[in-house]
Amino acid sequence: IHVIMQRDTVIFDLINKEKHRQESGIELIASENFTSPQVMEAMGSVLTNKYAEGLPGKRYYGGCEVVDEIEQLAIDRAKKLFGASWVNVQPHSGAQANAAVMLATLNPGDKILGFDLSHGGHLTHGSPVNFSGKLYQPVFYGVDEASGLIDWDKVDEIAKKEKPKMIICGASAYSRDWNYESLRKTADNVGALLMADISHPSGLIARGLLNDPIEHCHIVTTTTHKTLRGPRGGMIMIGENFDNPWGLKTPKGELRKISSLLDSGVFPGTQGGPLEHVIAAKAVAYEEALSEDYLNYVVQVSKNAKIMAKSFIDKGYKVISGGTDNHMMLIDLRSKDMTGKLAENTLIQADITINKNMVPFDNQSPFVTSGMRIGTAAVTTRGMKEDDMVKIVNLIDRVLMNHDNQDEIKNVKSEINNWMNQFPLYK
Ligand code: PLP
Repeated sequence: IHVIMQRDTVIFDLINKEKHRQESGIELIASENFTSPQVMEAMGSVLTNKYAEGLPGKRYYGGCEVVDEIEQLAIDRAKKLFGASWVNVQPHSGAQANAAVMLATLNPGDKILGFDLSHGGHLTHGSPVNFSGKLYQPVFYGVDEASGLIDWDKVDEIAKKEKPKMIICGASAYSRDWNYESLRKTADNVGALLMADISHPSGLIARGLLNDPIEHCHIVTTTTHKTLRGPRGGMIMIGENFDNPWGLKTPKGELRKISSLLDSGVFPGTQGGPLEHVIAAKAVAYEEALSEDYLNYVVQVSKNAKIMAKSFIDKGYKVISGGTDNHMMLIDLRSKDMTGKLAENTLIQADITINKNMVPFDNQSPFVTSGMRIGTAAVTTRGMKEDDMVKIVNLIDRVLMNHDNQDEIKNVKSEINNWMNQFPLYK
């Protein structure tokens, strides 16, 4: 290739700056992780040049023989990883995956029952500012105020009253496991489809550390870049015995299998050409996730989260629900007389990245919030273990308790920058 222009130093300098930021700080955003170099290499490959509308073997463009093989490998590896019988690996993101499912299985105006955004749910599960709340009629279930837990009988009660067409489970900030079996009974009782969005804990689910939604839920969606540690993207799956016609019809009135409806929901329903470079990177990540190394990784993610939650509690912080079953925790800062906004803005000065988050029954706005959400997926990728989690909690506490002491924050920052040198990320 003739490079006519000079290398775009403005952008590449900024990319290097971001690399330095990622390497020198402590990354605790629950939805982030560090992919392997080979995942990034696949994303930055010539595959970005290829159009491939359609599915492997059924494309609307020529020259797809190679990308067909790549996409089929991604599908086969995903099936193996999650025990799914059908997979679509094309959604550009988690939000796109959810949009495709809803477009494929619902009519505008249908009622959907999702987990309340302010209790930890996701925008695409019925928020009024999202397509899901604008096109469909959302109703919500939440957590019990005292325990911070979802009461499955209460969800059943709400479903019986509301009779939704779809029940959505899964969250962005719920640290406990889901009772998919109970939710399926509820869905069957009211004739609803049950969709699980496992974006956050999908890596832990894939390797058997949490309850398996594939056995119970009609449809499962996930992002591929959180605990799963792949490229940014989404995916839709269904399990054995779920690929039934379900009474859903084609525009011509023919009964269609749910997998065929979901394929159409992705393309042409909500997307154009698939991102084959990202699909190749998904395939690489799935193979990595099938390895012994990755199993050890998710086991450590889970151990790290438990010890971290306990360390916060030991320091007098209120962890919602009193602990965690997965990779994340939600901390109510009201007992420390702090807002999420203040915590986020103060911690970043010491190179600790977390995100402010609403806590259930929050009295602050979403821009301020009373909580912070913390996850262990990224720090575990860097090689950190239980002792390191205790140390991180001590550092966080030191920064928060000295939020108006710039010298102390600077001291912590330089300690962190030195410490992180011991956990090299990208050579
Ligand atoms: N679903 C859940 C539960 C999420 O937490 C997220 C992202 O945070 C998404 C969907 C959306 O994923 P994306 O940002 O890839 O669109």
